[in-house]
Parts: sequence; C-alpha cells; structure tokens
Amino acid sequence: MSPVPPQRWRIGAVTVTRVIETEDVSMTAAAMLPDATPENLAPHGWLRPHFVDAAGRLVTSIHTLLVESRGLRIVVDTCLGNDKPRIVPQWNRRQGSFLADLAAAGFPRERVDRVVCTHLHPDHVGWNTMLVGDHWVPTFPAARYVFSAADWNWLDRAPVSALGDFAGDSVRPVVAAGLADLVAPGYQVTDEVWLEPTPGHSPGHVSVRIASAGEHAVITGDLMHHPAQLARPDWSSPFDYDKARALATRKDFIARYADQPVLVFGTHFATPSAGRIVRDGDAWRLALD
Ligand SMILES: [Zn+2]
Repeated sequence: MSPVPPQRWRIGAVTVTRVIETEDVSMTAAAMLPDATPENLAPHGWLRPHFVDAAGRLVTSIHTLLVESRGLRIVVDTCLGNDKPRIVPQWNRRQGSFLADLAAAGFPRERVDRVVCTHLHPDHVGWNTMLVGDHWVPTFPAARYVFSAADWNWLDRAPVSALGDFAGDSVRPVVAAGLADLVAPGYQVTDEVWLEPTPGHSPGHVSVRIASAGEHAVITGDLMHHPAQLARPDWSSPFDYDKARALATRKDFIARYADQPVLVFGTHFATPSAGRIVRDGDAWRLALD
C-alpha cells in the first residue's frame, strides 16, 4: 500500500496538517454513539459516503492535527500511541507508523514545540509518551505539553481507567518530567491559536481556535464525536463525564459556529474531516467545500 499524502489546510498564515492513526468502521465508534444505528442514520443522506458507509455504519478516525503558527510546531491531540496496554483490541499494544508519518509531514518528534491535548482521554494522549526499554518517556523532548488544569485535577484523583492505565503511561510521565503546563481555559498558544472552554465530555475539555489574517477555524475535540451529531445534537456519548453539560456545550458550539465562515475540524471526523456547519431544516449538517 502506498502512503497517502496528508491533508493540509491554510487558515491565513497558519497551516493545519492531518495525520491519521486509524480510520475505519469499528465497534468503538458504534459504542461511542449508541443512538447512531443504521436505521436512525438513514434519514441523514448527507452523511454518506464519507461519514457513514453503504451498510449504514459510522466511519470515524483517530488523527492528530499538526498546527504551524508563528514558527511553532504544535501537535493537537496525540492519538493512541504504540505499545500501550489497552482493553480495546484495536488500541492494544499497537505498532503503527505514526512517528514516521509525523516526521514525513514536517514534524519530527524532536522539533515539536507544543503538544496540546483537548482532553485527557486515551485516544488523545497516547503519543505523549513512548516506550524506551521498560520506561514511558515523553515522545516530544523539546515540547511544552499543554494540559487543561481542570482535566489534570480530575485525572490525577480518578481511579485507574478500566480501558488501561493511560494516566500512568501517557500523562503522569510528562508531568513528572516537568514538561506539562497546566493551563486555564482561554490559554493562548500563540496570538493565532488559543483554547476555548468546551466542558462536559471531560471536566476541563477545550477546543482549539485558530484565527489568522481574517480567516477562522476551530478544532472540536470530543464535544462531538461524529458529524451525525449536527443532525442530532441530542445524541450523546456514554463516555461523557457530564452528559447534560456536554449537550449544552454542543448546542452552544453549534449556535456559535453555524453559518459562519469558520472551518470546523472534527477530532474524530473521517476524511475529509473538516467543513462548515450550515443550517439544514430544523438541524444542521457539515458542508464540505
Ligand atoms: Zn476521542
């Protein structure tokens, strides 16, 4: 199989490059959004073929977005990682080419300046660390890692996850190495890139806003997992920390960005992964242009 060139966008002077770790129809996607059955998805034809397959199943991806702003290489969300013991079979002790793919996209791990995690869940923190001998060490030695303080305060006190000890193997080693900046919502990575509070899926969940030369974009994080939630914002994930808050955040987000010239990057949206939210009857859809 020949390598697929990464997708790349320009927002003013900022570039965003997508590097995919997984993209498929999986049990995990179905578990993420249990209301999104083939029957319930059928009326929303605009989701096919990119986001729903011919059999009516959800297509999702786990990818990172590489943001270049003001000379800084910024990695937004670090996917699953290699070698991590996880209960989900497709996530368990992976051996993927992610770091080589990052380097090929112009982000060799030694030259990454910032790592931003929209939230501290195992599919967003995995490549924070890598296995060297029998130790988990920070993958990006020259980077400051930007974590939401509210998420760290929650995770630090939480029992070990049933999915696998992602706090222990992917977050604590970064904090212990002194590479973590625990920040408040609104934190500015550069004057073109900042965090926007979107709590609910996790206590300190953030989205990433980009504005440059009059052009605008936003990276959702997991305030929505799939574009189907534009048609049905009421469909929730069982993994939401606070379902009511997550729903309110999702509705606010849609109200803020619908029918605006803002490119919306979904953190789990399958290829082409980005579009504009537009009104569609009494709900919304993702316009791909
Ligand atoms: Zn996720």
